Amino acid sequence: MLILMRVGATDEQVQNVCAVIRDHGHEPLVLPGQDRLAVGIPDALTPEERINLEMSIGSLEAVSKITHTSRPYKLASLEFHPERTVVEVKGVKIGGGNFVVMGGPCSVESLEQFQQSAEIVRASGAQILRGGAFKPRSSPYAFQGLAEEGLKIMKQVGDETGLVTISEVMSPDLVSLVAEYVDILQIGARSMQNFPLLIEAGKSGKPVFLKRGPSATIDEFLLAAEYVLSQGNPRVILCERGVTPLDRAYTRNTLDLAAVPVLKEHSHLPVIVDPSHGTGVARYVSAMSKAALVAGADGIMIEMHPNPKVALSDGAQALTPEQFTALMREINALAKFLALNVLG
Ligand code: PEP
Ligand code: MN
Repeated sequence: MLILMRVGATDEQVQNVCAVIRDHGHEPLVLPGQDRLAVGIPDALTPEERINLEMSIGSLEAVSKITHTSRPYKLASLEFHPERTVVEVKGVKIGGGNFVVMGGPCSVESLEQFQQSAEIVRASGAQILRGGAFKPRSSPYAFQGLAEEGLKIMKQVGDETGLVTISEVMSPDLVSLVAEYVDILQIGARSMQNFPLLIEAGKSGKPVFLKRGPSATIDEFLLAAEYVLSQGNPRVILCERGVTPLDRAYTRNTLDLAAVPVLKEHSHLPVIVDPSHGTGVARYVSAMSKAALVAGADGIMIEMHPNPKVALSDGAQALTPEQFTALMREINALAKFLALNVLG
């Protein structure tokens, strides 16, 4: 339930509403807005509770309107927070009519490989550099990442190029370490419901890039975002990266592009699409990147490797430098056509 207060409602009038909510056994959530304030009740209410609350609150001073939401998330909801969130990192704005491109290899493999990757990302005009140092691999025998050594490389290359950096953190105890070296914390698809990790990432105050779990519903995805937001960290970026497919013979995942307008309709958070993991096939990445732009995404995350054939992880879906540069040109042209602002 959401109680919209009149413009200019006094603190006392707001507190009266909160007191009545508490009398009914619920904890109110005060949601300041641009010109008026709302009070939310995050709990699921029975029809009887709803009617009783409405009767008690409807006649209070400065209450303008009471609305109901059947959605379980509140802080992530556009209804509760009508201004769209723009996450600004080192001057790069994610959301708010910009289209950002995050590019880089799946894994940081060496200083040389990462410097080469960064140079291609920078030269093509993109502003965010991705790289994995702690890798969530299906097999314990596969390359697990360079760990802190990889983070050090990311920090060095980020400083050298001025690019914003993003890397995955897999466990709560590593949040402070990863936060020391990179600008944006990535929560991987497999970790979307690692609640202690979400809480720790929320507490860090760093921007959090949250990937949708391979089998997560939209409600589960936004509730995971809610965990981060509820720690007082408003800088959350959503990422659609494909869901478990019906048929793995052709693609690794099924990129759910419909999730983009759905998320935009129900949430104020920026939405990025990852067509690399979404398809798992380098030659499909360009088409799905352009589709993401047209679908209304705020950006894309693309895996690119100086030499995909020798990549230590996800080589099959990595673009070559030439393919990445060509994609950037096409994205720019398309964005111009759609009157969007492209940040690389
Ligand atoms: C990645 O970005 O390299 C990654 C492991 O992605 P996901 O969590 O979406 O599988
Ligand atoms: Mn990868």
